[in-house]
Amino acid sequence: MQIDTIMQQSAQAFDTYKQVKPAERATFLETIAAEIEKQREILVETAGKETNLPAARLNGEITRTTNQLKLFAELIKEGSWVDAVIDTARPDNTPPRPDIRRMLLPVGPVVVFGASNFPFAFSTAGGDTASVLAAGATVVIKGHPAHPRTSLLVFTAMQKAIAAAGMPEHTVQHVADVALGKDLVLHPLTTGVGFTGSLQGGKALMGYATERESPIPVFAEMSSINPVVFFPDALQTQAPQLAQTFAASITLGIGQFCTNPGLLIAIQSEALENFLQLLGTAIAASTPQKMLHSGIQQAYVKGRADMLAQVTLVSETAAPAADEAWPALGRVTGAEFLKNHSLKEELFGPYSLVVTCKDKAELIAVLKSLKGQLTTTVVGTETDTTQWQDIIALQATLAGRIILNQPPTGVEVCAAMVHGGPFPATSDQRFTSVGTSAIKRWVRPVCFQNFPDHLLPDALKKDNPQGIWRTVDNQLTK
Ligand code: NAP
Repeated sequence: MQIDTIMQQSAQAFDTYKQVKPAERATFLETIAAEIEKQREILVETAGKETNLPAARLNGEITRTTNQLKLFAELIKEGSWVDAVIDTARPDNTPPRPDIRRMLLPVGPVVVFGASNFPFAFSTAGGDTASVLAAGATVVIKGHPAHPRTSLLVFTAMQKAIAAAGMPEHTVQHVADVALGKDLVLHPLTTGVGFTGSLQGGKALMGYATERESPIPVFAEMSSINPVVFFPDALQTQAPQLAQTFAASITLGIGQFCTNPGLLIAIQSEALENFLQLLGTAIAASTPQKMLHSGIQQAYVKGRADMLAQVTLVSETAAPAADEAWPALGRVTGAEFLKNHSLKEELFGPYSLVVTCKDKAELIAVLKSLKGQLTTTVVGTETDTTQWQDIIALQATLAGRIILNQPPTGVEVCAAMVHGGPFPATSDQRFTSVGTSAIKRWVRPVCFQNFPDHLLPDALKKDNPQGIWRTVDNQLTK
């Protein structure tokens, strides 16, 4: 089908869907979750064949995906997310103040690119799509070519939910043709884009979006090496446990997580050497595995060889089969790291680089040399966190999420989550792609001035029919 037809259909569906009451939209999201649940077995089987991911992981991801849909349903039923602000008229002011009311309203058709590394949670009915539909916008999904049959099965479940919940037929559409991504972004009816993938891909989409006659936002989550700083007292007192925890995090899902800890930083010491020996042993004991698709596998094999040519190898697993990825740990000094910018790039896969700094000044220089990140982690005892507060404050400027004494892999879907960060982690650090705040990417504030009650959306009406929290004349009230 022509892109133009798809986008016209999406715009037409938007005209109706944006008027659907929040409670009905919530039921629609819950119905999508239920339809996906009905297909769980075949979805796990199909995705397993397409992505090499194990059934336990895929089952967990389906649960995460359906919970995500239900969480957005709860959010829109409760309703206050629309951020309704009412400044009532003050006719006695000089000059008189008119009645002014503001809330968030959906932008229009959105294009979502499915991600390769999360066939459910960041793909067809994943977080981007759930947040678009919760906001009241329509969506055109570009399925990822690495799991086409999985994507189509999920879309079929969504179509059943559309029919069962009585939503406009084209509220959700799905395209899979490899040549279509650019055209979808360029189409004049597209109002926003959600993307998770490579820096190269994200930047290309950002380029198309600004090239348009009317530029649109691209919310791209792209590249992060998630620096972890290990402080001296923690290394001295907790090395064995830290080695196990971080080896597991580096090799989890054969390193195919955007929150993979790709950079480990510490000041040189005997305790650090002891920790690296334990970490190296744990990495060497991990198991090589197949990656998501041959493109990612080849990129890892080449990137790994390039990286290891520039650093000292600490450890690696035994040689794998030809189509498996090979976990590895490298090391460089702070001085070498500061000189060599290619060491700061993401290598997607089970590889991590240790940077040993000669002193605090070099540690600060290393942190300041880094680009924007999704996460940064502090590994320290209470003694450390008291002594190194300035370093922790510096870390907080780097990333959307700063973590204390836990590995960065694992992203909770909740209201407080920030899965975002300064470029190149994402294209817009003011937003998150995980958690209920992700809905804010697909709305804009609209102000109604001097409107009578019957012409206003429910959230702004005088008698508050939804019963939501609003700010009325500067007071938060129901
Ligand atoms: P990708 O190459 O960025 O592709 C993701 C999606 O974007 C695909 O649907 C692709 O469509 C589309 N796309 C990419 N470049 C495009 C362009 N110039 N114009 C239009 N559409 C474009 O990501 P991937 O296939 O998932 O993996 C490749 C690499 O991305 C990995 O090796 C890894 O380095 C990185 N990655 C990072 C993360 C992360 O979370 N940081 C996640 C996954 C992957 P087509 O295939 O149709 O071109």
